[in-house]
Amino acid sequence: MHTINSNLSKKIITWYENNKRNLPWRIYSNPKKKLYYRLLSEFMLQQTQVKTVIPYFERFTSKIKTLKRLSTTSERKVLKLWEGLGYYRRAKNLIKTARIIVKKNNSVLPKTLENIKKLPGIGEYTGNILLALIYNQPRLGIDGNVKRILSRIFFKHEKKLNFKEIIDKNKKKLFNNNRNADLAEAIMEFGALICKPQDPTCKICPIKNNCKFFRSGKSIKFTKLNKTTKRNYNIFCYLNKKREIGLKKNSTLGFLKEYNLPIIKERSNKKNLKNWNFLCNYKNSISNKKLNIDLYYKFSKKIPKGLNWFSLYRNEEFIPTFTKKIFKRVENLY
Ligand code: SF4
Repeated sequence: MHTINSNLSKKIITWYENNKRNLPWRIYSNPKKKLYYRLLSEFMLQQTQVKTVIPYFERFTSKIKTLKRLSTTSERKVLKLWEGLGYYRRAKNLIKTARIIVKKNNSVLPKTLENIKKLPGIGEYTGNILLALIYNQPRLGIDGNVKRILSRIFFKHEKKLNFKEIIDKNKKKLFNNNRNADLAEAIMEFGALICKPQDPTCKICPIKNNCKFFRSGKSIKFTKLNKTTKRNYNIFCYLNKKREIGLKKNSTLGFLKEYNLPIIKERSNKKNLKNWNFLCNYKNSISNKKLNIDLYYKFSKKIPKGLNWFSLYRNEEFIPTFTKKIFKRVENLY
């Protein structure tokens, strides 16, 4: 049985009160703004770091000030504001969720995990964290932070721990002061600033006496780090004399699912390069992937089925950053 010390929550919340960052989604004037800010930030923070999200969040909320307004905003406008943040399915789900909450649920967030998970884009983690933050329910979002902190406290590899069971069995000890919203947020902040993946600042950690890892005197070895993977790709651009490029939607490449893209193939068979002109080689990084790209082009009146012509200068159209970088390179051919 993995038992959590009953002082742990209090120590983490006290640390949080003294050290929390002034993140823009933590500053709101009324419950409606709180719901809007928390919902929007949780969607933006899925798979994206805090420092990246901050300017997007500020720009988004300066243009669309309320959840009600978001529910009546066009998808095109929302995607434009989301441009560059990536994982565009989140933006599409956010609009659908805002519309359901405002139009079908009288602007009220569902109060049970079962019902909140019916909203588009809200799974187990986001559901739990929103119920904790909005309704002060005794819940934690089990993310990398929570897993890392608990695995260090018990000095066991993450794979050997059942986090859901640990939290359920220690509910009374964890949620013992009716500050459940603060605890949910404090743990995330604690994981980001103190019990960090690579170099935890154990010396100033307020719970070091409860931490078996610290007491062991060992160094961090078992922490799973995000490995950077290197991949080689060929990108093939169909171009025409009207300064248009052939793009297709919904690439099958996992890390670029929502993009308008030219043809991308993992580099392998040199024979496929017949009839293509080499333009340049360049490097690109997307999350933990380093891409080494060879860019090819050909001028053609026709494009294969599934591609559509896009003007290289269509500024008002939603075009992701990855594709815009390709535009810049092929523009030099005209
Ligand atoms: S003592 Fe170190 S490893 Fe343990 S919880 Fe604190 S920061 Fe994390």
